[in-house]
Amino acid sequence: MAKDLSDSPQSPSLLRLTRATAAELQRRTGFLPAADLLSMLLTEVFPGRIALVSSFGAESAVLLHMVARIDRATPVIFLDSGRLFGETLRYRDALADRLGLTDLRSPAPRAEDLAREDPDHLLFRRDPDRCCALRKVEPLQRALGGFRAWITGRKAYQGGQRTALPRVEADGTKIKVNPLADWRRDDIEDYFLQHELPRHPLEADGYLSIGCMPCTDRVALGEDVRAGRWRGFAKSECGIHLPGAL
Ligand code: SF4
Repeated sequence: MAKDLSDSPQSPSLLRLTRATAAELQRRTGFLPAADLLSMLLTEVFPGRIALVSSFGAESAVLLHMVARIDRATPVIFLDSGRLFGETLRYRDALADRLGLTDLRSPAPRAEDLAREDPDHLLFRRDPDRCCALRKVEPLQRALGGFRAWITGRKAYQGGQRTALPRVEADGTKIKVNPLADWRRDDIEDYFLQHELPRHPLEADGYLSIGCMPCTDRVALGEDVRAGRWRGFAKSECGIHLPGAL
């Protein structure tokens, strides 16, 4: 395994080292089941320096359950953009309680940024990329500041920019882990059933991918699961996964 310099200041050499570490982890862990990969990363490779970033959306309970079974004190970061469905906030609280998560963090956008750029709460219409930058990307930058690695729930089957998704990748000077990258929708369903996990209350109403209320629509039969996100805009990601975002 490449030498870990996570406490070094950001530098070209740290960027290179992060890419090398990600490639090596990908090579060494590509065959592991998702839960085993998580266990290894949480307890051996990045103990105390890795966080799960979760939207508490329609499929989030799978990773949250896996992580809770390994270590309930794992930091879980939930980006509270201020524009979420009330159902999501209540689901977050109920699910975190049920799984016994003890380190749930909900960073919010800075009040001064919102007052300056989104005083009417309509920035999502004028400039959704800027709205996501204020409400999601910047709070995540702050929340991940002390971590070397983070875990996401992205899957290749969700399409778009996620089609060729590795399980471990470099994200600037951080390692980004996508344990469910190769899971299919059926795998998610099976896991929910096997572990009797509660569903997001909006899923039964046709919301298959759930983000902010103004930018989330129902998904029709035959559409991609993320087709309801930013419907009508040339936008398919909030920006936290774009290269150089963090
Ligand atoms: S998803 Fe929509 S409301 Fe939420 S931060 Fe992005 S543009 Fe703003």
